Amino acid sequence: MVFEGLADRLQQTIQRIRGKGKVTEEDVNEMMREVRLALLEADVNFKVVKDFVKRVKERAVGQEVMKSLTPGQQVIKVVQEELTELMGGTQSKIAVSNRPPTVIMMVGLQGAGKTTTTGKLSNLLRKKYNRKPLLVAADIYRPAAIKQLETLGKQLNIPVFSLGDQVSPVEIAKQAIEKAKEEHYDYVLIDTAGRLHIDEALMNELKEMKEISNPDEIFLVVDAMTGQDAVNVAQSFNEQLGVTGAILTKLDGDTRGGAALSIKAVTNIPIKFVGMGEKLDQLEDFHPERMASRILGMGDVLTLIEKAQATVDQEKAKELEEKMRTMTFTFDDFLEQLAQVRKLGPLDELISMLPGANKIKGLKDLKIDEKQIKHVEAIIQSMTKEEKIHPEIINASRKKRIAKGSGRPVQEVNRLLKQFEDMKKMFKQMTSMNMKGKKKGFKF
Ligand code: GDP
Repeated sequence: MVFEGLADRLQQTIQRIRGKGKVTEEDVNEMMREVRLALLEADVNFKVVKDFVKRVKERAVGQEVMKSLTPGQQVIKVVQEELTELMGGTQSKIAVSNRPPTVIMMVGLQGAGKTTTTGKLSNLLRKKYNRKPLLVAADIYRPAAIKQLETLGKQLNIPVFSLGDQVSPVEIAKQAIEKAKEEHYDYVLIDTAGRLHIDEALMNELKEMKEISNPDEIFLVVDAMTGQDAVNVAQSFNEQLGVTGAILTKLDGDTRGGAALSIKAVTNIPIKFVGMGEKLDQLEDFHPERMASRILGMGDVLTLIEKAQATVDQEKAKELEEKMRTMTFTFDDFLEQLAQVRKLGPLDELISMLPGANKIKGLKDLKIDEKQIKHVEAIIQSMTKEEKIHPEIINASRKKRIAKGSGRPVQEVNRLLKQFEDMKKMFKQMTSMNMKGKKKGFKF
């Protein structure tokens, strides 16, 4: 997972200051030394780190923090706000032309994920934004690019405009936009030529394409795994072409996150979307504030909720939430929730979005596969009604009986009971955090 190293280090550092009733300038300096190292190790641009540390320090030793009743928490709030600001402050939304179609030019170096991302973006536009997109195959140089886009289009059931590789890209774009106007498409996504390196021929072609198609957005697709190189690529493209947004791909990989944290600050190009995997639904809107929360271990409940809204049975979800809130959550609900959660995606990814989840031992590494779920079901089904509601009555002899009934070892029954307890603890923590947050007016 991206940012894992950075997140771990930052969280350890801020943990030390969190509960402090008094924070001295020396405390802040010490913390910021650690933060500085953590950011540099995450491959964040040197100058960006320097400015960031300076800003946080200025604010953190200022009156607003030192005089407050919870200076430790205030310092963390400053870090979170500045981290959010670094990544662009608020979400930068995709343009909508008032004279449709909205034209988007997709640019980037070969291998960055441009063609895949073009497909993913059309899927997101249709699914989340209810738009009608047209894909345009204008990368006539990379031999497989046209075929690749056509295959993506077929998979997604989204039309692809192509004239083969013998017509100039500019002509392809022109005709595609005409067609889009006639047939009332909302968005035209042009997959332009990529190259291995930035060269004059590429830039000239892209400039011509820009002139002819008059795009509302020029999205640069960059590979987050390339760290500072991604930032340099963005800078060159921006200087020569003018880029309106960056899409960072491969953020699911083992990247340190430097590109995500530097691009906006260095080039002023906002990050609009992030690629979180190879699958066609793994492109997400980029929210600086949510990303900052994730990095600081405060979770990303909003994204989790959005995911849930798209997949989960709303009525059941409401019932479950009520039960969590009132602590009347039983093993039957646990089963029900397992079924719902499985629809959402990999569990470890979901857990990483929960606030403080990484601090609960065992939860971070919890992986559930189909077989294990069957075992869990068998164990729960071997419990009596009363045991499901009040698991605390399950003593040694009851455990033995449940183990026998489900055909699973007693240790497994123990493990499940322990996990259930941990889960309840977490709900409790979340509920009390929410209440506190509401009272104070911010989210801690
Ligand atoms: P292009 O040359 O820029 O058009 O690159 P492609 O679209 O062909 O993508 C190159 C490779 O990157 C393909 O194997 C994609 O599946 C992969 N890829 C693209 N986006 C992501 C992403 O967000 N996560 C991961 N893990 N792989 C990605």
